[in-house]
Amino acid sequence: MKHISKEKAIFSFSSKHKPVEIVKPSELVLFEAEDALGGQVKNESISMETLDWSRVNGSTGPVYIEGAEPNDTLVVEILDIKPADKGVIVVIPGYGVLENMQFRGKAKIVTLKDGFAIFDEKTRVKVKPIIGTIGVAPHACMREGIPTSIPGKHGGNMDVKDVTSGTKLYLPVFTEGALFAAGDLHAVQADGELCVSSIEVAGQILLRFNLIKGKSPRWPLLETQESYMIIAAAENLDEAAKIASNEAIEALMREHDWSFEEAYMFGSLAVDLKINQVVDPKKGVRAVIPKEYITLESLLY
Ligand code: CA
Repeated sequence: MKHISKEKAIFSFSSKHKPVEIVKPSELVLFEAEDALGGQVKNESISMETLDWSRVNGSTGPVYIEGAEPNDTLVVEILDIKPADKGVIVVIPGYGVLENMQFRGKAKIVTLKDGFAIFDEKTRVKVKPIIGTIGVAPHACMREGIPTSIPGKHGGNMDVKDVTSGTKLYLPVFTEGALFAAGDLHAVQADGELCVSSIEVAGQILLRFNLIKGKSPRWPLLETQESYMIIAAAENLDEAAKIASNEAIEALMREHDWSFEEAYMFGSLAVDLKINQVVDPKKGVRAVIPKEYITLESLLY
């Protein structure tokens, strides 16, 4: 099994990064991840103004996947996510969905114990660890790449609460070797990620890669037990909802040989739009299609 140290962190997804490891499809790979704040918050008395933002939102990697070429699909099987036993939530003035409100910067260290995050003496939340940032390098023409804080077609900072163990993520490959990286673990997160951070936590991720040659999804696609989810991102939620819906309707047209009108009607009955997060530089919406109505084939181009 390959082991990728958290010391190997990138702050942008880019084809110009040198891979830190070469992995073969079907090989097991263990990624260590620092928390999204770069491990800087060790206690609750820290002032948010002293955070070094250049260390925030790192992703471990990138790894080169042998045989991956543009227009392929990189299949990422998420086998396990092990969070550390403590994480941190922060609120920062001017950030989050209520950025307009007056409030103070504050950090809260949260202990994870027996499968629960201990929020306060009376309140705990069941731990369900997710990978917040997971993606590949964008097309080589984007020389500067995309900061790890931004979600997009390449994946990135999607902050989707369903990107958890037991799921499979399908990412379009834009560059040779795909140059995959991941990090930004959350011990648990709700749709929206209201306050801009979740329980940011260090930890380990066990992954296995595979390739589908010669076709790819247009946006990251997540397969859960019950559904396929098309994960879109845009400047605002309306636009992200449009993209996710459009992709879902087109896939349904292909699957059932339906006209646009038929697929559009069916979308109202069976496709759920869910908010991923409303706090990152681009906002995210996913279209959730139950597996009984769609196959993977119709979601790849
Ligand atoms: Ca994040």
